[in-house]
Amino acid sequence: MPKKDLAVPKNDLPKIVGFNVRQILAPLDKPHKTASGTIEVAPLVLLDVQTNAKISGSSYVFTYTPMALKSVALLVGEIEQLLLGKPLEPTELSSFLTAKFRLLGNQGLVAIAISAIDMALWDALAKFADLPLANLLGAAPKPIRIYDSLGQMSADETAEQVEISLKNGFDAFKIKAGHPDPKTDVEVVRAIKKIAGPNTWIAVDFNQAFSANEAILRMRLLDEENLAWIEEPVRAEDFEGHSFVRSSISTPVQTGENWWGIPDMNKSIAADASDFVMPDAMKIGGVSGWIKAAALAEANGLPLSSHLFGEISAHLLAASPTAHMLEWMDIAGSINTTPPTIFDGKIIAAEIAGAGLNWNEKALKQYLV
Ligand SMILES: [Mg+2]
Repeated sequence: MPKKDLAVPKNDLPKIVGFNVRQILAPLDKPHKTASGTIEVAPLVLLDVQTNAKISGSSYVFTYTPMALKSVALLVGEIEQLLLGKPLEPTELSSFLTAKFRLLGNQGLVAIAISAIDMALWDALAKFADLPLANLLGAAPKPIRIYDSLGQMSADETAEQVEISLKNGFDAFKIKAGHPDPKTDVEVVRAIKKIAGPNTWIAVDFNQAFSANEAILRMRLLDEENLAWIEEPVRAEDFEGHSFVRSSISTPVQTGENWWGIPDMNKSIAADASDFVMPDAMKIGGVSGWIKAAALAEANGLPLSSHLFGEISAHLLAASPTAHMLEWMDIAGSINTTPPTIFDGKIIAAEIAGAGLNWNEKALKQYLV
């Protein structure tokens, strides 16, 4: 055999040549009130990872408070230097970046920055492969059950919102419960049933606001309502507290949006903290983290839902063996030209190459910080 045939094949993957990092305050339809604070606008860091193949990959992360926006943007920008010239290998680069920050710790803003980069790298790789992200992950875009994630409102306001949501293709709802008077939570649930039907899929979220005892007392009122789940009844990191609540009520317990990576998911599963799991693409480690979370969920027989990031989550859940429900809260709709489709209580990812994000540059300019 001629010697040249033994040569190592040329690595044809695109190489990373730069980051474009922007900060925006994206408008919401209305302020989103929870039992642990209200979100007025969506502070988003937008990342475009540019490659030498005329392909760039995009992502956004949500800093909840505008006070963290600049810090996350600066951190993402600083990490650019570590990746310049590297080939587009998201799994490899996720491990590489995690190792680089081992001494500081891979939680909080560091985890958010790494996830932003990871999601953009996967988007770029999917665009390079000319495939929707779901296909790159071994599946295909398909209908996923969706619920409309509503803020904390009175029974009347909730009923008004549910009428609009039904017209927009939703048939399942989550409310931010934990009103000052526990009876109001029940009134809101019943208001939804009155509009949408007695067997409507309804979940409630306490957003970590209560002690285990208080959560159990409140759930005594709600346990009769045949709810799909109670989410974060106690502090997110209190896995034992979740488990105690779970053993004391009949409504299933849901948690996961505040897990910092797989180590937290492992602890939660070990504590039997919940019936269902719902990692957040930004806090679990981007697409690379989600792949591991989906495998863990399958191995433990746990139905897997998503938290925020509906565009990329529609791809991720399509490729997750125990896919359950996708949470819809539209924080990037004002700046994305290729939204997923919502119909008949389901969502399907945009069937275009990538993770479903393409910036509306004209709109985006108005929201730049
Ligand atoms: Mg929640």
